[in-house]
Amino acid sequence: MRSIPEVSSIRSGDRRALAKGITLVESQLDSDRYFAQELLHKVLPYTGKSIRIGVSGVPGVGKSTFIEAFGQYVIEQGHKLAVLAVDPSSPINGGSILGDKTRMEFLSRSESAFIRPSPAGNALGGVGLKTRESLLLCEAAGFDVILVETVGVGQSEHQVARLVDFFLLLILPGGGDELQGIKKGILELADAIVVNKADGPSELLARETEQHYRTAMSLLRQVDHWEPQIRRCSALKGLGLGEIWDMVMKYKEAMVSSGVFFDNRANQSLDWMHQLLDELLRTSLYENCAVRDAMHDIEADVRGAKLTPLSAAQKLLALSQR
Ligand code: GDP
Repeated sequence: MRSIPEVSSIRSGDRRALAKGITLVESQLDSDRYFAQELLHKVLPYTGKSIRIGVSGVPGVGKSTFIEAFGQYVIEQGHKLAVLAVDPSSPINGGSILGDKTRMEFLSRSESAFIRPSPAGNALGGVGLKTRESLLLCEAAGFDVILVETVGVGQSEHQVARLVDFFLLLILPGGGDELQGIKKGILELADAIVVNKADGPSELLARETEQHYRTAMSLLRQVDHWEPQIRRCSALKGLGLGEIWDMVMKYKEAMVSSGVFFDNRANQSLDWMHQLLDELLRTSLYENCAVRDAMHDIEADVRGAKLTPLSAAQKLLALSQR
C-alpha cells in the first residue's frame, strides 16, 4: 500500500512529505482516492492563504524563463513559491514538456521553491482536479505564491482560469493573437497580458504591441473591481518583473477589499463540485450493467430511426435507475 504522509510533516515544510502527498492525489488508483481525499480533508483548514496565479502562453513565448526570473524576484521579496504545470498533451508515462526542472535552474535549487511537473489527465476531474488538489497541498505546506503554468494552446487554459485568482497571459512582440497562435477565447481569460521579450531589437515592437493590446483591452472581458492590464517585460533580462508583481498585489488588494476575492474562490469550489458531479453521474451511468447490456441495441434503434435520440437517452437513464 502507498504510504500516506503526515499532515504535520506537510505543514512543517517537509518537501518529501509534500511530494508524496501530491503523488497520492495524482494517483489513478481507486484505492488511493480514498486516502487522498482523507489527506485533503485534513489539510483543508490550512489552505487558501496563497495568491494563485495562472501563467500561460504559446510554446516559445518564454514561460519557463519568465517563471524562473519572476519566481526569483518573488522569493527575494520573502515569499515561498510553488510551480505546478498543466500539460494536457503529455503522454501518461512519457514525461512532460512543462515544469521541467532543468529549465528552471535557480528555482530547482532554491529552498523557497517547489516545482512539480504536470500529471496525466485522464482520471476523474482530469488535470484540473489534480492541479487543484496539489495546489491545496502546497498551500498547506506554506507556499504563499502558487504559479500554475499551462501551454497556451487550448482547453487547459479554461480549466486553469477556474482554479487561479489571477490569470496572466504572456504574448510575443508583434503580430495579432491569431498570428501568434493564441486561440480564440484565451485573451478573454486574462487579468493581465504581458508582452515578453521586450529587449534588444524587439523592444520597439514590444512597445507597439503593448499599445495595440491596450486599445484592444477595452473590448475584452470586464470584471467588477478590475480592469485587465497590459504590461511588457523581459524575462531574460529581468526587466519589468517588479511591476508585474506589484500589479498582482494590487489586484489582490482590490479584490479582497471589495469582498470579491474569497467569493470568487467559493464559487470556484462550487463550480468544481458541479463539474465532478456531472462526471461521476456520467461514469456511473455508463458503468451500469443494465445500461451496458442495452446500449448496443438502443444505439442500433437510433441509427435505424426506430427511436428518437431523446427517448433512447431517457430509456437508458431509466435503466440505470432501476
Ligand atoms: P516556453 O516554451 O514558453 O517555456 O519558452 P522558454 O522560456 O523556453 O523560452 C523560449 C526561448 O525564448 C528561449 O530561447 C529563451 O531564452 C527565449 N526568451 C525567453 N524570454 C526571453 C526574453 O525576455 N527576451 C529574449 N530576447 N528571449 C527570451
